[in-house]
Amino acid sequence: MAEHPREVPLVHHIPATLPESQMNWLEQMDINVHDFIYIDHFLKAAFEEWQHAASTYHEELRFWFVTNVRGDMIQSDCADSSEGPIKCSDTITTSSEWMSIAVLEPLRVLHDSKDWLISTIPLRTRQEQETYAYLGCVYSQEAPDLGWMPTALKMVGQHFTACFYKQLENMFVKDLLGIQVQSRKETQRRTFLFQVIQRLQDKIDVDAVINEVLDSLAGVYPNAKLEIFMSQDHQSKNARVKPLSLQDDEEQLCVRAFMEGIMLRNDYVGDDGQAYLELAVPLSGKQGVYGVFHLYIPRDQFEEVDMQLINMLADTAGTSFENAKLYEQSNLLIHELRLINELTQQLSQSLQLKEVFKFATEELLHIFDAEHCCISQLDKDKEFFEMVSCNIPELAKEVFPRDYGFNGLVYATKEPIILSDYREYGRVYSKLMEFSGARSLIGAPLIVRGEVIGTILLVHSQPYFFSYDNYKLLQLLSIHIGLAIANASLHAEVRRMANRDMLTGLFARHYLDDVVQELQSRDANGSLIVVDIDHFKQINDRYGHQIGDKILKQVCVIIRSAIRKIDIPARWGGEELAVYLPGLDIMKSRDIAEDIRVRVEAETSPSVTVSCGISEWNRRDDKISVESLFYRADMALYQSKNNGRNQTRIGEHHLNT
Ligand code: GH3
Ligand code: MG
Ligand code: MG
Repeated sequence: MAEHPREVPLVHHIPATLPESQMNWLEQMDINVHDFIYIDHFLKAAFEEWQHAASTYHEELRFWFVTNVRGDMIQSDCADSSEGPIKCSDTITTSSEWMSIAVLEPLRVLHDSKDWLISTIPLRTRQEQETYAYLGCVYSQEAPDLGWMPTALKMVGQHFTACFYKQLENMFVKDLLGIQVQSRKETQRRTFLFQVIQRLQDKIDVDAVINEVLDSLAGVYPNAKLEIFMSQDHQSKNARVKPLSLQDDEEQLCVRAFMEGIMLRNDYVGDDGQAYLELAVPLSGKQGVYGVFHLYIPRDQFEEVDMQLINMLADTAGTSFENAKLYEQSNLLIHELRLINELTQQLSQSLQLKEVFKFATEELLHIFDAEHCCISQLDKDKEFFEMVSCNIPELAKEVFPRDYGFNGLVYATKEPIILSDYREYGRVYSKLMEFSGARSLIGAPLIVRGEVIGTILLVHSQPYFFSYDNYKLLQLLSIHIGLAIANASLHAEVRRMANRDMLTGLFARHYLDDVVQELQSRDANGSLIVVDIDHFKQINDRYGHQIGDKILKQVCVIIRSAIRKIDIPARWGGEELAVYLPGLDIMKSRDIAEDIRVRVEAETSPSVTVSCGISEWNRRDDKISVESLFYRADMALYQSKNNGRNQTRIGEHHLNT
């Protein structure tokens, strides 16, 4: 009896047969065969090869077979069991029964009243001499001269073992080649990645980073469909760069990859019946996710290990993108600061409102590359917006109700606005947009001391023209423009106050002097009325100074209502008042003076009277001077007083002083 065979230690698991798919898989050698060997598979293969080479062994024998160490029948050359006298299944039934049969002691089997013999030989490994399988044959008792059998079997066994090892070696060689191919691919991948990373690190331009990654991927997967969805508004000339819409149902995978910040995949069969892989790979840095790479790759052109490559590429791209973005932002910031600095410097130099508006309009058009710029100001009662500066002549000086159009929107919200496409928006009707045919808009309120005092609107005919950065910059600039406007307004107010008399609200004397002098240099003629309250000292004495002041104010109100808008009323001094009437001749001025005189007597309370003196000048005069004009009016007033007061006198025209 032969000793009970030990199991070959290499064998961990011995399936009876290899499934078809695994066979293919093994043959393709695409992945490593690890530390197990499909002994049965190799026994079968070895048997076939051996059988092919050793047909001579078969002549006198019924058939050969090979079993594994457990005695499971692996392969036999019993061609057709139904034909022969012994069926394979009849003879070799179960393992242990015959496994221990020695070569010299063949098992006798009676079948179909014939004696059959079965001899087996253990097949041993070369080194350890362990039994790894059994080779056996079934033959007829009647076969002549069986004395050679034991030697023959031994030889045959050695031959079989050679075949078996050849199979194994074949496999290892194939495996080795597979590993080589794999490592070559791996090297290529690493080299590729290394090169891309190197190129990416050189890029300080956001667009260049995106283009580099897209080009690199297109190089690896020439048949893939590639695009990138960017979350923030990002203008790129690359047609593959698209805006990411979080509401977009068609790009669900991308939206999810963006939100979750992880790579997602979707395996599917396309309309063409081909298998595809859809990948959504987030472009993310330390500070957030910027976009999503979207790839459709034919399944057969993609290997699972590529996933790692794509992931690494996306990581590097994300970091490079973030760096480029930060660089771009800091550049932008410097640029903005410089702009603000220059703008405020310029603005603070102009104290005239008109100048501020004009300068701001020009600068804004230039900075934002806008086609049109309109600055509107709210009127005193905050009812209307008046265009104070606009480079569309048809709209300049246009007046709109406070709640109209985009001005109205900015006024209501006190917030800046950005509009990508006016046609799509459709919620606000704007004459500016309609008239200019513009589609993009950015706007900001002009705020002074917390109050909206006006707006700035910039437009362009191209949709999606202005960026979010533009919008933020305008917001900043509008603050400074608002300040400049406040400054100029304040300056104007101070100037106005300096020219006014506090008590009466009329102009101050020096202002009247200046204006008359200026008008005398350009006008053809004009006249001056001097008004003096009669016996005002007594009024003061009787009623007190406060009532005196009140009467003085009443007289001023009457004067103002009696003259034209262009006339200049002033407090000449004390209770003496003067009005200059540009372009008016003396007769018409006398009518006005008389009107004042009559109304003062009738309308003041306590009632007072006034005396008036009038003088005029004409371009034809020999001598034209402010002093002469005033002197003659004063003389006329003197005459009125002397003649009993409450009357109007005309000064001598040709009096030379
Ligand atoms: P008449 O002009 O008719 O000759 O007499 P009068 O009393 O008006 O003339 P006079 O020039 O002598 O006096 C002017 C007075 O006007 C002196 C001053 O008390 C008064 N007066 C001047 N300015 C003011 C003012 O701002 N408020 C008040 N309450 N009184 C003023
Ligand atoms: Mg007087
Ligand atoms: Mg007086």
